[in-house]
Amino acid sequence: RSRGLGDVYKRQHHHHIPSITPVHLLPADQNITSSFFALNFAATTKNSMPPCGIIAYCGKEHNVVETLIDGLERLEYRGYDSAGMGLTRAGEAQMTRVRAVGKVANLKGQTAGLVGEEGILAGVAHTRWATHGAPSVLNCHPHANVDESLCLVHNGIVENYASLRTQLQARGFKFTSETDTEVMAHLVDDMLRTYPDTDLAEAVRLALTQIEGTFGLAVTHTKFPGTLVGARRGSPLIVGVTEVGVVCKTDHT
Ligand code: GLU
Repeated sequence: RSRGLGDVYKRQHHHHIPSITPVHLLPADQNITSSFFALNFAATTKNSMPPCGIIAYCGKEHNVVETLIDGLERLEYRGYDSAGMGLTRAGEAQMTRVRAVGKVANLKGQTAGLVGEEGILAGVAHTRWATHGAPSVLNCHPHANVDESLCLVHNGIVENYASLRTQLQARGFKFTSETDTEVMAHLVDDMLRTYPDTDLAEAVRLALTQIEGTFGLAVTHTKFPGTLVGARRGSPLIVGVTEVGVVCKTDHT
């Protein structure tokens, strides 16, 4: 069973706080869900769009690492300076993050030992075109929350990151990068802690109400191993659905 993009690409028209409709892409008994929503505001950024790319997958395939590397290789033409991936592994409370400056080939080399590993349930991957913070391993995506249970990849620019970062740091959130992106990982974490009954999609939605700027993003969390959340505003992101899983990707290459 597969469906066209029109079934899953829900545009929502709200002027202030947007709402989302989680999209259940597979029968509930298969326990894989994905939420994707477009915040259809006019982008507030005056900056030009960074090129870079996202590929994220959640589902039943055993070749998650190959799928992500293949996706990144197809996005290389867009330009980038570094690459990374974050994997949800069965029984692990922390994400496995692998990040490398330079070519996707470097990341491919560093993830070779994970190829074919069973129990990789989901993954997010990214090619970065640095806008905030030098191309370095610590600035590579995915970015994580403090306990590294959450991974977030982002294309775009968070224009109000400096004030959000100051506020989060004052409340004890420890930052490990110089990027604008990292505030979003901590904000989602903050929402999950503040509202313990909240699911990942709702936590992302709440976090994004505080963001000014542009984003295409994908989020995974080890406590929600069957869920992939994608969102976009002013940066591209598309969703593909098959009977073995869901993919969020920057374009259809
Ligand atoms: N602004 C983010 C950063 O500098 C994302 C850049 C991109 O779109 O790759 O990390």
